[in-house]
Amino acid sequence: MVTAMDPISKLTEYFREFPGIGPRQAKRFVYFLLTRHASYLDEISRLILEIKKNIKVCSSCFRFYQEYSQGNTCKICSDTSRDQAQLMIVSRDVDFETIEKSKFYNGLYFILGGSIPILDKEPEKRVRLKELEEKIRKNNFKEIILSLNANAEGEHTAEFIRSHLKEKFPEATFTISILGRGLSTGAELEYSDSDTIKNALKNREQF
Ligand SMILES: [Zn+2]
Repeated sequence: MVTAMDPISKLTEYFREFPGIGPRQAKRFVYFLLTRHASYLDEISRLILEIKKNIKVCSSCFRFYQEYSQGNTCKICSDTSRDQAQLMIVSRDVDFETIEKSKFYNGLYFILGGSIPILDKEPEKRVRLKELEEKIRKNNFKEIILSLNANAEGEHTAEFIRSHLKEKFPEATFTISILGRGLSTGAELEYSDSDTIKNALKNREQF
């Protein structure tokens, strides 16, 4: 919590909490806002106030979605024309968006909610493990695709999820695969273009 500071420093502190934003960038955002028109600031403030109002978390894949009906599942989870035998596991909503935008995947998703840093002492607190197990138990997946970042943390997370699933589902009939290294090393999924996603999916490997 930020207290008793001038508005510039205060807002800078808030922007610093955003993912991937350092102190300099945070300050640049604040000065950028200062150059904008009052109507722009009004609009942005209004959007911030409203952002959570019509957004729900899907009870099946755990992604954020805009409420469009009474149900508790998103459009993708309730779309029976999608391949019900494939489950793709991604870290965050932005990764889901990148994959979905590529239009090369037609199965279901599961949002882990994060990734697991190397040497982390409590990995089960970083990702939705119980929820994932439950989702797998309730469905009849033939393939589980791990679509995580091609960096050390993403690989560590993939390895952790794989061994966890092998332990929990020793008799499993599903296979586990991982995106092919069409993704260059170190690449974050969210910044990959559709062609890269297509190749990474096409070249996915048994894991
Ligand atoms: Zn869903």
